[in-house]
Amino acid sequence: MAFLGVQADRGQVVSTRAPVGQYADGTDVNLPVVVFEGVEDGPTVFLQAGMHGDEQTGIAICRNFLAELRAADRSRFRGRLVVVPLANPPAHLARSRGWLHEERRVQDLNRVFPGDASGLLSHRIARTVLDEFILPADITIDLHSALEGCNIAPFATIDPADDQEGSLDLREGVAAAMATPFIYRKERGTKLGTQDLSGSMVTQADKLGKGVVNLEMGQSHVVTREWVGLGVTGLHNVLRMMKMMPGDVQAPPEQIGFTKIHPVHTNRGGGYEPKVAIGDAVEVGQQLSSIMDLDGQVVEEHTAPVAGHVLRIPLWGTIATGAEIAWIVN
Ligand SMILES: [Zn+2]
Repeated sequence: MAFLGVQADRGQVVSTRAPVGQYADGTDVNLPVVVFEGVEDGPTVFLQAGMHGDEQTGIAICRNFLAELRAADRSRFRGRLVVVPLANPPAHLARSRGWLHEERRVQDLNRVFPGDASGLLSHRIARTVLDEFILPADITIDLHSALEGCNIAPFATIDPADDQEGSLDLREGVAAAMATPFIYRKERGTKLGTQDLSGSMVTQADKLGKGVVNLEMGQSHVVTREWVGLGVTGLHNVLRMMKMMPGDVQAPPEQIGFTKIHPVHTNRGGGYEPKVAIGDAVEVGQQLSSIMDLDGQVVEEHTAPVAGHVLRIPLWGTIATGAEIAWIVN
């Protein structure tokens, strides 16, 4: 089986770069591709990171996981692991969520699926990822981090949280093996907070009957070292769970499931003072944060509309009217 033309023989590891277009100066835009081919048949797992150019933690998880897998005894490795550890080089080089230089507005790669083989560069990358990597794989694992300006508790997303395409057991198994503190079981077709996900990789892959598990961990623009170990350990666990590598699956610690995200917004702009941290459990009416004027006077207080856990909070010290001050999930 070839992935964007990259093929490995039994027991081999192939690491290369496959061109998907050219920059304005004529140099190639290359997708890095790593293929670990097992010594016998088995499942195919596709692992991806760096689809958003400001997200670094997933890329660090991939390289550390690959380093450990290279050093591991793979004499009983079954199946095939295919990795694109940096899926959006143009955006990554610009240190921007999407690439700026297309039709004068940012293209968010994870909103333009299924992509277009004759479209803008981001659309072509989307089409390539879908056709060349997701379709031939049994399961896809996609590593993300929080949006710029906020922090998020690590979670796996099962989207959609139904078994219409027959992949629910596998997706649940991967999410459990990744051992994130939270699992989001998202109802088919619903928004993520305020975001329409109809053009996301997960939604479009599902339409083709392909399961994807999204993982969110870390902050924008930095490697959140705290979570690199969690990601690396989780990926080894996935290989054991899928019987691609020998060894027992480490039972995950208790994972907190949620199905609803309740965004809380501020009416007053000003200095944001959090009273809770990501991962905290909160009761209805518990104070989440306050807005303080520049002169030190509290002008608004925010409370939890429901009982649940704090998944996301802002990192910026000042926020404007209408900005989100927390995601409470339950
Ligand atoms: Zn992302």
